Amino acid sequence: RAKEHGGNRYEVADPDSDARAITRHGLTNRLPEALERGEFFVEYQPLIGLEDGAVLGAEALVRWGHPVHGVLGPDQFIPLAESTGQIVPLGRWVLEQAARQAREWQLDHPGGSCAPRVNVNLSPIQLHHRDLVAEIAGVLEETGLPPGALCLEVTESALIGADEDALKPLRRIADLGVAIALDDFGTGYSNLSSLRWLPVSVLKLDRAFTRGMRRHPADPVDLKIVEGIVSLAHSLDLTVTVEGVETRTQAEHLRALGCDHGQGWYYARPGPPEHLHHLSLADAG
Ligand code: C2E
Ligand code: MG
Ligand code: MG
Ligand code: MG
Repeated sequence: RAKEHGGNRYEVADPDSDARAITRHGLTNRLPEALERGEFFVEYQPLIGLEDGAVLGAEALVRWGHPVHGVLGPDQFIPLAESTGQIVPLGRWVLEQAARQAREWQLDHPGGSCAPRVNVNLSPIQLHHRDLVAEIAGVLEETGLPPGALCLEVTESALIGADEDALKPLRRIADLGVAIALDDFGTGYSNLSSLRWLPVSVLKLDRAFTRGMRRHPADPVDLKIVEGIVSLAHSLDLTVTVEGVETRTQAEHLRALGCDHGQGWYYARPGPPEHLHHLSLADAG
């Protein structure tokens, strides 16, 4: 019987096979129940100003504290949640948590010139859900979070070939005053000229670009590419955030290249919301 169901493959710890194992167990059906039971939680990874090292806020990253499989990362269940539509209530829940948390940081650090902000990932499935814009407006109102303190991250690949119908909600979100970031930028072969008309204000450079800068000497081609992207982005008034900053050398290169914000293990791993206080959010003020 075990063989029939894939046998020992349960022990392989790569996300794909874990996702398959979960599907085989029929646990996809447990997503709604898991949400109800409070098995999901959100970790926060600080966003750092590269110029002065200030903590500007954090990206919200969802995890599933599964009673049998332990803590599952988003790569292990987001694709499932997207295929069943469960990403809609799950994404809404993450947004609520993150907005409430960011508001709490703000109230704990009054008077700062730069109020803590929060980034939340948005699935393309959510983008096609007709209540999305109203829900975002509702969450901002309920939590009291100023729209400018929220940034929604949409992956570049989600927007490739996006038609007017997909862009309309994004424009309305931007009209609320919420920032929109193009996540994993540079991995999706997007048309650079699309930056002219996408309602995006932040480019999040995928860590593929910074791999070659982990140590000296840096890969000269990576340096040139990032330099070019930064200059293009800045000429279009876009902020450049770099993900996957793992070493001090990388951080130094990226600052020298004019990148604005950084995020990565060199600064902090994703963690509970309290750990932003240890990193002294107040410095951002
Ligand atoms: P992402 O939005 O590109 O998030 C960055 C990922 O890189 C996170 O993985 C983060 O933990 C990881 N990371 C951060 N710093 C470093 C570093 O220095 N080195 C390396 N190697 N990795 C680093 P995570 O948490 O596993 O999330 C994976 C993806 O899942 C996210 O990629 C995002 O696309 C998606 N995701 C996470 N939370 C949500 C959510 O609430 N909703 C939706 N739709 N997607 C989510
Ligand atoms: Mg992201
Ligand atoms: Mg990313
Ligand atoms: Mg990424």
